[in-house]
Amino acid sequence: MVVRDYSLYIKGLMHENNRKNDVNKPVSIWKELDRLRGYPEKTMVCIFRTTGCAWYKFTACSMCGYFNDTSPEIVDENLMHQIDTLYDSLDDTKVLKIFTSGSFLDPNEVHPAVRDYFIERMKNKVDKLLVESRTEYIRQETLEPFKRAGIDLRIAIGLESADDYIMKYSINKGSTLKKFIDAATILNREKIELRTYLLFKPPFISEKMAIEDIIKSVEIVGPYSADISINPMNIQKNTLVERLWKKGLYRPPRLYSLATLLIQLGSRYPVLSYPTGGNRERGVHNDSYDRELLDLIVQGSLDHDFTKLSDYYNSLDLEEYRYQVELEDRMFFQGDYDTLLKRLSSSSITY
Ligand code: SF4
Repeated sequence: MVVRDYSLYIKGLMHENNRKNDVNKPVSIWKELDRLRGYPEKTMVCIFRTTGCAWYKFTACSMCGYFNDTSPEIVDENLMHQIDTLYDSLDDTKVLKIFTSGSFLDPNEVHPAVRDYFIERMKNKVDKLLVESRTEYIRQETLEPFKRAGIDLRIAIGLESADDYIMKYSINKGSTLKKFIDAATILNREKIELRTYLLFKPPFISEKMAIEDIIKSVEIVGPYSADISINPMNIQKNTLVERLWKKGLYRPPRLYSLATLLIQLGSRYPVLSYPTGGNRERGVHNDSYDRELLDLIVQGSLDHDFTKLSDYYNSLDLEEYRYQVELEDRMFFQGDYDTLLKRLSSSSITY
């Protein structure tokens, strides 16, 4: 499940978090659109600052920089203050997504007493809730308090890929497809919805392989999932992926590829994508900026209708893009030569 040296290398890149954060305030709270109730609507998003993912004690996933937002000194009382801050910010928004830098259902990260406090405060205020969790915390006893309170819940699991080899060697996820299916089966049995996250273009595979991996993964997770979020790589600080990218050994996926996936899968599966860092150097982007393509990806995801995206996509000249994807697939490593040359001539990059 884990390669020891690989895991230790990733752990070595995780910096000590010496920043003084306000432990009584969430990392951030904002509103965005999502379609957790089957139509696009205003959704509150809150990132709680916690002690972080249990996986950080050993290593991290190769793309995960969420440890940058954790604080080791957080105690239950701090989390309760954060919940109060969120409560005061909720106004009339009825749909809520909670992120931590780990798993909301991990009792060591969010103690059951804190979870119960959260449920008590939110149960009459929120009509739909999404929280994230690794598979190991999805158990009858962690779900029961939400059910008892009558909260309409969707749980998001970062499977990333249904291919165990990619999960182990590319992502260092410390999990397997079987664990995901076991957790998804529990959720299906308990009639709790599942959002599955897939990571588009983990390191060490070509863009062409990454496209194939997403297609295969969607086919496998589709029957278990209320929706499937295709998350194109977004390069986060102090991660293995950032290290590779700075050396010109990794290029984030192209918007064209993301559009290809949504168009191809959208008529058969509830896929969506709200790319973080889209059209930027660290996120999903083509060689030239394309605002319209990104907007159509997001709008198609919200509407669950990719017709306009498909029309626009079919009007584009994709010859150069297809050539690049083929070429990259034949290379020994999946570098980004343009960016590498630019970076080498820049004095602002440190290694
Ligand atoms: S399981 Fe999630 S929070 Fe934990 S290291 Fe992986 S991506 Fe980060």
